[in-house]
This record gives sequence, C-alpha cells and structure tokens, in this order.
Amino acid sequence: MIWRVILALIVLYVMYRVLKKMFRLETRKVTPLKDQGKGDSSMEDLVEDTVCHTYLPVSKAIVWEDEGTKKFFCSEECLKIYRESKKKKV
Ligand SMILES: [Zn+2]
Repeated sequence: MIWRVILALIVLYVMYRVLKKMFRLETRKVTPLKDQGKGDSSMEDLVEDTVCHTYLPVSKAIVWEDEGTKKFFCSEECLKIYRESKKKKV
C-alpha cells in the first residue's frame, strides 16, 4: 500500500514541475517584445522570383547577378529558365 502513496506523490511532484515550467515559459513569452525583428526568419525581407513571381525570404533565394542587378530565384530550375531566355534574346 505504501508504494501507491509514494507513486502518487511522485506523480504529483512531476505534475507540479511541469506546471511550473509551463507558467515560466508563458511569462517569458510575454516579456521580450522589443527583441522581435532581429534574428527572426519570419521578419526577413521577401524577394520576388523573376521567373515564376513567387515571394520567398532572401536567405532561401538563389541570387544571380546580371549586369549589375541582382535577380532572385526560388530554385535552380527558375534560374535555368531565366538564363535560357536571356540566351535566346542575345
Ligand atoms: Zn521560381
């Protein structure tokens, strides 16, 4: 019988720890509002794919410098299409 009491105490203790952690996380979430915007990937600048006109973050885009201007592409495929179309014009 005593084991049941000990087990119940352990369960209660674990629950208490988990609840404490949750509350601490919640208060932490509320406080640093001014830290938003730096290092947050969702706040990153979006660039437009020249070929398929998809908007994607700079870090995920393929950058191609063309006559001094930067072009952005969502994939190698779009870059290939762009370069191919350039070749045809020349
Ligand atoms: Zn694309």
